[in-house]
Amino acid sequence: MSCNTCTTKTVSLAEYASPNALTWCPGCGNFGIQVALKQALVANGITPHQAMLCFDIGCNGNGSDKIDGYRFHGLHGRILPLAAGISCANTQLTVVAEAGDGATFGEGVNHFVHSIRANFDMTFICHNNENYGLTKGQASATTREDVPMNSSPDGVSSTPIHPQRFALALGATFTARIFSGDILGMNRVFQAAIKHKGFAFVEVLQNCPTYNKATPHEWYQKRVYNVNDTDHDVSNRAAALAVSDDVNEKIATGIIYQDPNSVPFMSRDMVRKDAQTELINEVSHYDITQFTSRMR
Ligand code: SF4
Ligand code: MG
Repeated sequence: MSCNTCTTKTVSLAEYASPNALTWCPGCGNFGIQVALKQALVANGITPHQAMLCFDIGCNGNGSDKIDGYRFHGLHGRILPLAAGISCANTQLTVVAEAGDGATFGEGVNHFVHSIRANFDMTFICHNNENYGLTKGQASATTREDVPMNSSPDGVSSTPIHPQRFALALGATFTARIFSGDILGMNRVFQAAIKHKGFAFVEVLQNCPTYNKATPHEWYQKRVYNVNDTDHDVSNRAAALAVSDDVNEKIATGIIYQDPNSVPFMSRDMVRKDAQTELINEVSHYDITQFTSRMR
């Protein structure tokens, strides 16, 4: 697998094009997210062979074969440890992981906690459409209280997880929130997240016209504003918590918090921090036939 220092050639959007037809519902926010991600990779000069794009199960994961390059489609809720392993094995790769709110704050919530603690060097895009879309609109951990969903027609009474509060309280070194209808905003945030040294958490407020009737495209459009157009200090965690708190009326989007002194996991790891080689090069010389022959 190649690294980010192998080439200086200009990248084009066409290199990320896939011949496979997109299958999302008309009006789904996933279309814009994938366009903005491609644009951000190109703007950062990253070719498809320099990136590993990792997809969880869900509607977002159905985009895994609609973009070219190295891709990995993991088990539900488990994309973060898989992406973390890739990021540690080859620190030269740009690793981007994507998952929905169900996988992130339900099945895989433990992985979210420990990815932030470890500060693995990757971008994590959470498609937060506030429901399990692929399985036909059940409530997730981010579904708003009392919103009727297919598995809970009277609404859920549990308090939803607030992704920004959660990530900031865990000590995340980069958090952002952006609306799926804001392609330029997503492009800018994704570019910054990819450049960040450490775990960059991007929550995309993604509309799901098929199952989430509570917060459609127009609902977000009326409420979002870009906090990076204000005097918000992105290096101030308390200010980040305060500015991101409102998710109902005046919703801050853009980069919410960034630690300028962030040091990613592999640069802090006692065993690996001074290593001159990548793990992927070291393991390439092992002969595993002795192990596989025992399995026959
Ligand atoms: Fe998009 Fe919702 Fe349809 Fe899934 S169910 S493809 S999230 S609109
Ligand atoms: Mg979802």
